[in-house]
Amino acid sequence: MKKIYLDNAATTPLRAEVIQSMLDVLENDFGNPSSTHSFGRTAKNKIETSRKTIAKYLKCSAQEIIFTSNATEATNWILNQLIEYKDVKRIITSKIEHHATLYTINHLLQQHNIEVVYLTILPNGAVDLDQLEKLLENTVKTVVSLMHVNNEIGTVLDLQRVSKLCLQNNCYFHCDTVQSIGKTLFDLNELTIDFLVASAHKFHGPKGVGFAYINKKNYLNPMLYGGEQEKGLRAGTEATHQIVGMAKAIEIANENIEKEQKYISELKDYCLTQLKLNFDMLIINGENTFYNIINVTLPFDESKTSMILFNLDIKGIAVSRGSACQSGSIKPSHVLAEILVKENLNKPSLRISFSHYNTKNEIDYLIDVLAQMIQ
Ligand code: PLP
Repeated sequence: MKKIYLDNAATTPLRAEVIQSMLDVLENDFGNPSSTHSFGRTAKNKIETSRKTIAKYLKCSAQEIIFTSNATEATNWILNQLIEYKDVKRIITSKIEHHATLYTINHLLQQHNIEVVYLTILPNGAVDLDQLEKLLENTVKTVVSLMHVNNEIGTVLDLQRVSKLCLQNNCYFHCDTVQSIGKTLFDLNELTIDFLVASAHKFHGPKGVGFAYINKKNYLNPMLYGGEQEKGLRAGTEATHQIVGMAKAIEIANENIEKEQKYISELKDYCLTQLKLNFDMLIINGENTFYNIINVTLPFDESKTSMILFNLDIKGIAVSRGSACQSGSIKPSHVLAEILVKENLNKPSLRISFSHYNTKNEIDYLIDVLAQMIQ
């Protein structure tokens, strides 16, 4: 049976060059980067070169990149630090953030005397930035935590506007860029953002490695104590092969960004056209969405909701559903819950997310299988 992977917002296959770069390190550069002999120095050199590569593509300074095990770790660290040590009293966020942000904020809310404000989500899936602007007139010390590209519906935050508002109002801006780094160009010389987070496995790199960008005007305390690694901010022997793999992945992604973006955008348009042709009453969730994500509610009976992913999986197709089945009951996606009326929320929704490895033939197969299911 052919297998089709259309779940690239969940994770991405590694590029061959990334695997090779990691294998090279595993075979040859096993030294502890903290050792002063040549084995250690070579490994350390690889890490610092990787840091420079990432900084080059984000247009920031290498010192502003701190390696972590993933974006979740980076977000936990940053938000915890701001509340515990930077006297932040208010978090402005939205209910469509990833759980890495939402659950961290819930935890902070229980532990500290802070206020959390959730911005309104407009029917098109965008965050209400006029509301943000008004809220920022209040001078309470604030962090704005908003994601760049939503991982479920693909809506895109206006980074220019939010970063400018935060700068003007002297508040911190933490941005979850997990779905956009490696897929769009960044220029951190132009954008004033305090904190960004990323995970390599979302841009064809390895799992278990990511980074935080900490704008040099900010100082954070260590997240882990025990050594001088990562400027003493995250102690523990570095995973050289993971870091090198991540840098390779960001390098190839950025060098091919225009070509791959064009290819993937065409695939997305093709898929949307086919979906609309085949399914009347299809609902497209989110407007002006990122070029690799489609989220649709299918005009199928509610009874199909619980089985749709399973049935697609049997046919070899991997996509995500906008609803998560928990303990045998269907729990609607917290993101779709913000934009869909209840009746539609119970219908099957799919998130289809592409990479440059996908083809039109795969989309035809997906449409055929879905069309059979509706009958
Ligand atoms: N933020 C977004 C938007 C995501 O899509 C994800 C992963 O799905 C995360 C954060 C968490 O990433 P990780 O599990 O790699 O830490």
